[in-house]
Amino acid sequence: MKNFTVICPGPCNASCSFCTWKEERNPLHIGAYINKLICAIKKLPVSCKAVTVTGGEPTISKYLEPILETIIHAKRFERVVLATNGSNLEANRDLISNCITHLNISRHAEQESENKIIFGSNETLTDKQLSSNIEFFSKNSIPTRIVRVYKDEDNLTDQKIFDFVEYAKTIGAYSICFSRDYRLPISSASEAEKNILKKYKPIADESCPVCYARVYLIRGIIVIFKSAAQEPSESSGDVFEYIFHPNGVLSSDWESKNKVNLQPEHVTSDQRMKEMEGIKSCGSHANPFSIGGCK
Ligand code: SF4
Repeated sequence: MKNFTVICPGPCNASCSFCTWKEERNPLHIGAYINKLICAIKKLPVSCKAVTVTGGEPTISKYLEPILETIIHAKRFERVVLATNGSNLEANRDLISNCITHLNISRHAEQESENKIIFGSNETLTDKQLSSNIEFFSKNSIPTRIVRVYKDEDNLTDQKIFDFVEYAKTIGAYSICFSRDYRLPISSASEAEKNILKKYKPIADESCPVCYARVYLIRGIIVIFKSAAQEPSESSGDVFEYIFHPNGVLSSDWESKNKVNLQPEHVTSDQRMKEMEGIKSCGSHANPFSIGGCK
């Protein structure tokens, strides 16, 4: 199943050393951007049922609200993930909880001070704010995954992993993803994971041709070790994901070099009814999908 990713136009308030994102200097105005987004969604293959909204930092983007409303009104996505550093979650909690199914928050260290240094920002959440947000989303049936990016030189011993596991449990996370720095080649069982393999067996293997991902249950919490290609489509030699950029371009890569021009698939009304069953809906605003067409 191919994923659809929407990159929110706007800046990021952090400056992580491992970041590969570059701010788009000429994003479309909101109206034109949303029209292009609607057209892109209408043309996605029927099998594309998962969307990730990311940035920059989506929670500080003025485009976040119309993007989430567009996604929810499309009534075709079974999984809607928001990937954030969490800095402005509080102000957007009601909107976000009405529109997403999963929340991924980056947190790279269990100590607040170290986390701030890694993010290069003072706007990161305190542990208290983080657990209050996680509790809020959990009450709305939205699980939070804590994403910790690591490099080999971080030397994640089993004790360091256990410490982070205990920390994630304390703040109420549903799962943890130890994500190996994307700039490194995909690695099966990094040194960090080998430390865990000595004591635990994986309970699932979610690897694919461009992503290595093994799942563990460690001290009562789901823990994933992941190593993914920076450009999955290029690595697989096929279109692996669709990425919608701030300038309205739909491409199969993060660099936006490989544009894709999709033709809408024919969907019968029976198929559409099936697709809509059980999909989250938000009836607060006019549905943009009921108006206008795409050329
Ligand atoms: S929070 Fe994300 S987008 Fe922002 S600098 Fe860090 S890795 Fe990059």
